[in-house]
Amino acid sequence: MINIKDNVLQFEEELNYSLNKEKRKKTSVKVVAVTKNRSVQLTKELVQQGFYHLAENRPEGLLEKQNELNNETIIWHFIGNLQTRKVKKIINEIDFLHSLDRLSLAKEINKRAEDSVRCFVQVNVSGEDSKSGIHPDQLEEFILQLGDYPKISIVGLMTMAPLTDDENRIRTVFSTLRIFQEEIAKKNLPYAPCTELSMGMSGDYQIAIEEGATYIRIGSLFFQD
Ligand SMILES: *Cc1c(COP(=O)(O)O)cnc(C)c1O
Repeated sequence: MINIKDNVLQFEEELNYSLNKEKRKKTSVKVVAVTKNRSVQLTKELVQQGFYHLAENRPEGLLEKQNELNNETIIWHFIGNLQTRKVKKIINEIDFLHSLDRLSLAKEINKRAEDSVRCFVQVNVSGEDSKSGIHPDQLEEFILQLGDYPKISIVGLMTMAPLTDDENRIRTVFSTLRIFQEEIAKKNLPYAPCTELSMGMSGDYQIAIEEGATYIRIGSLFFQD
């Protein structure tokens, strides 16, 4: 049996420990609950526990949850690969996109969005072939090119750490993303304030908080039994 309430209590205790250790305020980190592939019922229980940032990784999953939850206060995040042909289905339904990684996607968003869309540029910091995200060598040029698409607003950068037990490797990925984020923010581009860092998942969010994460994306921790 999955006990969402117990999982949330345990998570919040650990989260508070990390925040206190870093002398960071609770409001400085937003917890995005990743509800992909989870039932509407479990998702409702998480909302009842006070989680209002929800993330889905498939357009169909997102629209189903929005329809069933029918809750105006929820802030919707799209994570993971977004196929260009599916942009029009969801782009006016979400509050944040965490996976902007190519110009063809930016172009389609610009065409389909009614208002400005808050995007994280996904960076493949570790450079593994298997990972999506823009390569660090191409990041600066990519950010500059995004200035051609007025509907795109770059709120920050996002990354996924490699699947490894090597804490130092994970930490290096997060601290590197932060360096990139600060470099972009310093440019003072009107369309790219780039103040936010979306990094850290169930297995590595404590390291991410130590390295400056402002959005952590937590799924499996909430749903373990
Ligand atoms: C699934 C997923 C998460 C959540 O991962 P957990 O390990 O379940 O916490 C975070 N970010 C992305 C992009 C994901 O696809």
